[in-house]
Formats: sequence, C-alpha cells, structure tokens
Amino acid sequence: MIYTTLILFVLNFHIPSCFDYSKISNIESLKNQKLLYQPKTVMFHNIDDVGKSTWLWYELTYSPGKLKDFLYFLKKNNVKTLTFKDVMLIELWIEKKPKKWVILTFDDGYESMYTKVLPLLKKYNQKAVFFIIVNKIWKKWYMTKEQIKELLKNWNEIWSHTMNHRPLSGLDYKNQFYEIVNSKKELEKMFKTRIISFCFPSGKYNKTTLNIVSKYYFYARSVNTYSKWRYQIWTIRTNPSFLPYKLLKEITKK
Ligand SMILES: [Zn+2]
Repeated sequence: MIYTTLILFVLNFHIPSCFDYSKISNIESLKNQKLLYQPKTVMFHNIDDVGKSTWLWYELTYSPGKLKDFLYFLKKNNVKTLTFKDVMLIELWIEKKPKKWVILTFDDGYESMYTKVLPLLKKYNQKAVFFIIVNKIWKKWYMTKEQIKELLKNWNEIWSHTMNHRPLSGLDYKNQFYEIVNSKKELEKMFKTRIISFCFPSGKYNKTTLNIVSKYYFYARSVNTYSKWRYQIWTIRTNPSFLPYKLLKEITKK
C-alpha cells in the first residue's frame, strides 16, 4: 500500500475513469471505517429556465445562469470540485485533500445535465457526480447512454440511483436488492466503470436498505441526515431561489 501511494505521488499520477481499484489492497476495509472527512455535497435536479406554473418541476429546477455564476464563484474562491472517487483516494492517502472542496451532485439523469451542465463544467474546468436511474436512460427528458458516456469522458462520475426510482423503504428485501444491486451491475456493464456510490430515491430508506447498500457501495448520499457514517452523507438542497453567493457561503462555512 505505501509503495503504491509513493509511486502515485512521485509520478503525479492522474487517475482516469478506468482506474483499476483492484490494485489497491485495503479498499474493502473502507466500508467499515468512519469517514476521514465529512464531504459537503450540493444537490441539484433539473437545470433549466422554467416558469412557476408547473410547481413541482419548478421546485426541482435551477437556472443555468445561476449555476454558471456559482461555478464562477467556486473557481474564483479556489473551491475544488471532487467526485467520490477522489474522496476515496483521499481516504486511502493516494490523493491529497484540497484546502476547500465540494461535491456537486445532480439527481435523476435529466437531459439538461448533458445540454446545460456539461458545457458549464467544461468552461470552468470543474466536475460533478450524476445519479442515474437505469430504466430512465433513453427515455424522454433523460440522457441517452452516449450522453452519459460524454460526462464520464470529462472526469465526471456516475452513481446508482436505482433501477426505477421507487422509494426503497416501501419495498421488501428482494425488490430492494434488485433496485440497489442490479442497478450497480447494469451501470458497470454499460459504462465499464466501477460504481462506488449510491443515492436513495426521494431520500427514503430503512434498515434493510442500509444493510444492502453498505455491503455493495462505499458511499451513499442521504437527504436530511447529518451523520459521519459513509452511508448517510448529508447534502445542501438547492431550490430555484437559492442565490449563487449564498450557496458559496454555505459550502465554505466551517
Ligand atoms: Zn431522485
């Protein structure tokens, strides 16, 4: 392990998306460890300019103009955007922790993530994580497989957001297992990348959910829980009126 770490530091190694996790011997032990650092994550859904008439859709949407300002503020204030693979490499002492950092998360895999978010991330040289619902790929309003591949090519990361986005707390073991584990396998097969993180649909879960997730993943993002446990990572929820500078203030406060 020390040897691997040294080599990676000396070569100033860039970790590509096809990074071979199996070469790191102590990776599985992370699952039982407390998080080394509490990640700050920000939750976005659709990115677009929509009117208030469709209330639910409006509440789940953030304006591309505001996102652009927010990314500009991050850059200006030296806040680095990380993915959970970065967090894992920091926890394993392979990558160095930046002074200020945040994880930008985009739920559900909407098409706007490719058309609106990706160009902005490229412009400001930032990255993000995207939660993909397997059975929504190619559906109207959602990204295609090719579009998701483009996200991955640009250093972004995808997580599992289940097969069908059903609230897990209402399902029995067999159905929860299918939603949690099958989605991981499908995404890994489809995108030839390791899926290390999970997100609970609508923030709903129970003991069974946590049991399965903690066996198959390294991280899971919750919605309301503030916990040091790696399977209940807290997030800042955005809404259409959340101003970019306030969001920056929120993530840079101690
Ligand atoms: Zn969702």
